Amino acid sequence: MLSVLTVPAFNDNYLWIIHDGVHAAVVDPGDARPILAALEAHKLSLVAILLTHHHSDHVGGVSTLLQHFKVPVYAPRKDPIANVTQALDEGDIVTVPELGLKLSVLHVPGHTLGHIAYVAPEQGWLFCGDTLFAGGCGRIFEGTPTQMLASLDKLAALPNDTKVYCAHEYTISNLRFALAAEPANTVLAERFEAEQAKRKQNIPTVPSNIGLEKSTNPFLRAREPAIARQMVADGRAKNADPVAVFAALREWKNNF
Ligand SMILES: [Zn+2]
Repeated sequence: MLSVLTVPAFNDNYLWIIHDGVHAAVVDPGDARPILAALEAHKLSLVAILLTHHHSDHVGGVSTLLQHFKVPVYAPRKDPIANVTQALDEGDIVTVPELGLKLSVLHVPGHTLGHIAYVAPEQGWLFCGDTLFAGGCGRIFEGTPTQMLASLDKLAALPNDTKVYCAHEYTISNLRFALAAEPANTVLAERFEAEQAKRKQNIPTVPSNIGLEKSTNPFLRAREPAIARQMVADGRAKNADPVAVFAALREWKNNF
């Protein structure tokens, strides 16, 4: 039986450890210290490192971890990352034999050009780095809105009960923006209350799930007539084309 440990790092990052009580694989170890501490506390031995994209808050701990554990490093083929042993692309399958874990790889460009996401179909888990966030999405640093929307569509096509392990606790500010974009969404209003209650007790709002994201995350809802109409009426989007609406939402959020 596998489970996922939440390892907070920096101001608002989450690093993820997938483990079976003995062996562990780490997703996006931006900092080695909290990972080493968590491995020690839970008496786990690291067997694999999985990376979603090249930003330092996702890969910064890799070289230190490799000094402690000689393990394979899985990473996107198209992002520039050091120490990679297995370069991955869309459709690849990662097998971590010690954990009996199989992950399928989705190429989700936009935040970076090489960005990948890992899906564990058997467990219903998605590790999506900085592509999809709870209530939001990553900034488009390297790709285009067309690419980013296609990447988010790929993630939205996963089963509704898929748990979304994203890399940051941005949920409250994301949902504040979501409410501005779609004030009449009652599911969104309820979610905002529920997530605020969690944060007041310092409980992570992550993982989320795909079904909840599809019903409340404006970046998965660029095709919703109510959102598209309002974006055009407010002069933010030129027309109701999903890419135009999505790009306008992203632009608005950048300055929100
Ligand atoms: Zn990033």
